[in-house]
Amino acid sequence: MTEATVSLDRLTDWLARFRLLVTEQHSLLTELDSAIGDADHGANMTRGMTAVMAKIDTAPPSAVDELFKAVGMTLVTSVGGASGPLYGTFFLRIGMASGAVTELDGPSLAAALRAGLDGVVARGRAEAGDKTMYDSMAPAIDAMDAALASGADLKTASAAAAAAAVTGRNATIPLAARKGRASYLGERSVGHQDPGATSTALLFEALAGALAKA
Ligand code: ADP
Ligand code: MG
Repeated sequence: MTEATVSLDRLTDWLARFRLLVTEQHSLLTELDSAIGDADHGANMTRGMTAVMAKIDTAPPSAVDELFKAVGMTLVTSVGGASGPLYGTFFLRIGMASGAVTELDGPSLAAALRAGLDGVVARGRAEAGDKTMYDSMAPAIDAMDAALASGADLKTASAAAAAAAVTGRNATIPLAARKGRASYLGERSVGHQDPGATSTALLFEALAGALAKA
């Protein structure tokens, strides 16, 4: 990508790609959540993102804040599990940080993602190493910031974020869960990849895909 900004269409493409990835990986997300949770993460993410895309199709937003407010509200209301309010808050905060604009430049996008992460923390109180979506999301956003600070374009920065999200996701395997349903298992959660960190790696894979297009 050569442009220095991300349009509303491209942000919508991010969401469409995320929906496609969680749908394709529905079984994996279910399997991971059946090992250390209640086997609904695949269903939660698929239902939530399908509702999001239906909402956007029915009432196409005309500004970035409107888009992400619709995404966040739809996830909060359509997903029963912990992940609904957490991803919902992530997107609501992205919307609030973006404002009534029709495109975002690199620093604005990075700042909005950071605000989203702060929202996840405000809502779920997760810290690094708790074996949650935070462990994929925080390194991804750190990598994006670092890449942009070193002068990388959005394509390169989002690819770096996606790679860091995968590394963070993999690093949840040896951890014992300290937040959410998996924490009830304590040490028995060791050896299993966190479902939420897995869907968050897909979120950043989707972003990198949307920003890679010419
Ligand atoms: P539930 O746990 O209610 O069944 P899901 O299965 O959809 O909801 O989502 C589980 C995922 O949510 C976990 O794998 C974890 O990544 C994430 N999660 C749970 N609690 C928290 C929290 N307090 N902070 C951040 N992420 C969390
Ligand atoms: Mg679950």
